[in-house]
Amino acid sequence: MRKRNAKLVVVIVTGVVFAFLLFAFAGCVIVTNVLDANLKIPPDDLAMSFCSTSDTEAPEITLNGDSTTYVLVGGEYEELGASASDDCDNVELTMNGGVDTTVIGSYTIIYSATDSSGNVGEVRRTVNVVPEHRGTIYLTFDDGPGIYTTELLDILARYNVKATFFVTGVGDDALILREYNEGHAVGLHTFTHNYAYIYQNMNAFLDDLTRVQERVKRITGYTSYLMRFPGGSSNTVSARYDGGARIMSKLVAEVTRRGFTYYDWNISSGDAGETTSSNVVYANVVNRLGDGDYVVLQHDIKGFSVAAVERIIQYGLANGYDFAKLEATSFAAHHRVNN
Ligand SMILES: [Zn+2]
Repeated sequence: MRKRNAKLVVVIVTGVVFAFLLFAFAGCVIVTNVLDANLKIPPDDLAMSFCSTSDTEAPEITLNGDSTTYVLVGGEYEELGASASDDCDNVELTMNGGVDTTVIGSYTIIYSATDSSGNVGEVRRTVNVVPEHRGTIYLTFDDGPGIYTTELLDILARYNVKATFFVTGVGDDALILREYNEGHAVGLHTFTHNYAYIYQNMNAFLDDLTRVQERVKRITGYTSYLMRFPGGSSNTVSARYDGGARIMSKLVAEVTRRGFTYYDWNISSGDAGETTSSNVVYANVVNRLGDGDYVVLQHDIKGFSVAAVERIIQYGLANGYDFAKLEATSFAAHHRVNN
């Protein structure tokens, strides 16, 4: 009886172990099949079959550095290169073109890459070999901000050119904030810009100047001491309103005593009445450039004037000039005061 029981136990244990092994094996088979089903076409193969039949995407090429650069004639040019990537292939980058820094001119460097489906990616860099430094151009924009100021700020940002804005009481606060945040100088041009009011006496002028100074301070947190007189320090319109008090001479002395620096200009773009043509504005500016520093007068409330700025910048950069914003120590292009 004990022996039979023992045999039975052995049979049962063997059966359980066998059943367990069977289940475990079946489980493995099931799990393995699921994995196989999922992995039947690995992702790489999927991409490969797409790439061999319908790849229309050209390799993407990214320049290191700017797409337009400048180097002084006789200087050294270092090409910063580029990198290429493609959705299907490992592509090889080819560079064509070169720069002769002994000859002034514009040179093009072309990077290209071709993938296995024949799609060609290409980018170009323009390298301008420019003359020796001839001077600094201070672009200044009065009477804004206005509806063309955004466009102007976009152009200045594209060329990393800093300019100076002599603002008044008009326009959006946000534009003055953008001018300031993007590194331009925000100067003062009186709040009302009303000649009959500001030039009637010293107090009226100083109140109006303080009013725009406070506006700029409220928007930017910055107290500006850069200023431009409406009409410039040489204006004679003020004599109509000052009752013979020789107001400009007094104002020049007083604002200076109060720590302001005032700026006139030595190139007028002619956009204040002489012309409404972008081409004339452009010509007025570039034809008056020689060796030296230039403060250029423009108005960012005039669309045709803003439309000339990009070409003025391109001309300046290609002809030996750099651009800067006005600072307290900058060339101020003072006019002769007439009254
Ligand atoms: Zn003005």
